[in-house]
Amino acid sequence: MSATIIDGKAIAARVRAGVASEVEAFTREHGHPPGLATVLVGEDPASAVYVGGKQRACTEVGMVPFDRRLPADASFEQVAEELEHLNADRAVSGVLLQLPVPQHLEGPALTAMISPDKDVDGLTPVNAGLLSLGRPGLRPATPLGVMEMLTDAGVALEGAEAVVVGRSNLFGKPMAQLLLAQNATVTVCHSRTRDLREVCSRAEVLIVAVGRARLVQREFVRPGAVVIDVGMNRLTPEQAGNKSGLVGDVDFAAVRDVASAITPVPGGVGPMTIALLLRNTLQAARYQAQLESLLADVDRGML
Ligand code: NAP
Repeated sequence: MSATIIDGKAIAARVRAGVASEVEAFTREHGHPPGLATVLVGEDPASAVYVGGKQRACTEVGMVPFDRRLPADASFEQVAEELEHLNADRAVSGVLLQLPVPQHLEGPALTAMISPDKDVDGLTPVNAGLLSLGRPGLRPATPLGVMEMLTDAGVALEGAEAVVVGRSNLFGKPMAQLLLAQNATVTVCHSRTRDLREVCSRAEVLIVAVGRARLVQREFVRPGAVVIDVGMNRLTPEQAGNKSGLVGDVDFAAVRDVASAITPVPGGVGPMTIALLLRNTLQAARYQAQLESLLADVDRGML
């Protein structure tokens, strides 16, 4: 048996096309498009590439990008001031602070300053709390992208054994919460998990986000499982066996014969993240428009 390949590029393109047409309708209705602000501190080349990709994607779906850059030696107060400015700007629907920030800054404290209704990365304590309580809010884009892929592939989650490897705030924890909300039976593994192979081999849905090239081997995978590989590890093109030099946390060649469906790297989860970030920005813009209209009604004494 060879697994069905879950094509993240194609699914992401459909999500982006959907967002583009909804942005058009939003702009017609409200007289302005949604705006997404990225804040980059320092000159880390990989972060600059990610920010550039987000800015371009934004323009492609008809949103307005705001590109804010601060020097690597910017103080906490300078970054905080920029975030406050963007929180207050009505043209900005979503704000994201590109992580990691330079060592002398406290990333979590700065992230927490983003207004929860503009927190399109879903990383503020308010949105993380809402997710954990099962209440509406903005969710981190990568786990949302994985949910979109599972839906697109027709994977039934109700009652399914799902194993998430990795417990980061950015991915593993919100992923587990989203699966739980769909009534999967969820196990979360991490570096202290005693027998990773054994736990993984129980999974009907196995989701891996560790950052170790090809950690998950064939014997980790239950026959017929759906395998989602979030890992992005850079090797030489020779080591990777592809031009990009990118490989995931799953040994794709070994696992594709045992899984029923699998995501490739590159071209799997990666493209989904920006697509869902755009959808989050639209969601944030709609929420703010609703709030403004409610407040206007209050002002007019209608409520
Ligand atoms: P992270 O914050 O470094 O977390 C890694 C997690 O893996 C931690 O929970 C860690 O456990 C666990 N871990 C480390 N070694 C392990 C092992 N040998 N066995 C089991 N668990 C182990 O990373 P992250 O931000 O979640 O990202 C993980 C990977 O996903 C990276 O390759 C990253 O590039 C990729 N990623 C991709 C996207 C995308 O858009 N495609 C988005 C986000 C992340 P402890 O908690 O015990 O340390």
